[in-house]
Amino acid sequence: MATINWSFYYQQLDKVTPLPVDCGRLCGSKCCTEWDNGAGVYLLPGEEQLFEGLAWCQTVPIPKIEAAFPGEYSYILQCRGKCPRSKRPLLCRTFPLTPHLKDGKDISLVFDEAGWFICPLVQLGELSRLDPRFVRQVLAVWRQLAEDQAIHSYILARSKEIDHSRNAPWKKLFF
Ligand code: SF4
Ligand code: SF4
Repeated sequence: MATINWSFYYQQLDKVTPLPVDCGRLCGSKCCTEWDNGAGVYLLPGEEQLFEGLAWCQTVPIPKIEAAFPGEYSYILQCRGKCPRSKRPLLCRTFPLTPHLKDGKDISLVFDEAGWFICPLVQLGELSRLDPRFVRQVLAVWRQLAEDQAIHSYILARSKEIDHSRNAPWKKLFF
């Protein structure tokens, strides 16, 4: 696995947020709480090394059978709802969007349905309501990261899940 220059990507996402105002005021910063027992945020392959031994968080390995990143060890980061903002991991910077590979080729962005029960922006489901600078930067970062094989495999696997879940019966309860 190639070493990824995380600070390069963190910087690209340092100054953008989903809305021009603090969206945490809409929901009480729900995505930063342990909204479900043991909930945390996935770390991209190799990113876990940045968080080892820090007081404000812990990294938890995921059993291989549930691993998010095919062929790699996967970890989640659990925090206490507060972090040094400049140190937050990549998926905290890109939520509530997630990458989607159409036909295994070009990357676009969709709302991360894993956040459906907590995030009003996911529930609203309108990309045009997000700050265009945020959308642009998130897309640019995922396109660059997809050049890494492990991350490309992750995006591909997630895209298949997303396509599959579009027809999930529970959705008919809400739409
Ligand atoms: S849950 Fe959604 S609306 Fe709330 S802080 Fe997170 S991204 Fe913003
Ligand atoms: S690491 Fe920071 S941004 Fe990410 S969930 Fe925890 S408090 Fe929120």
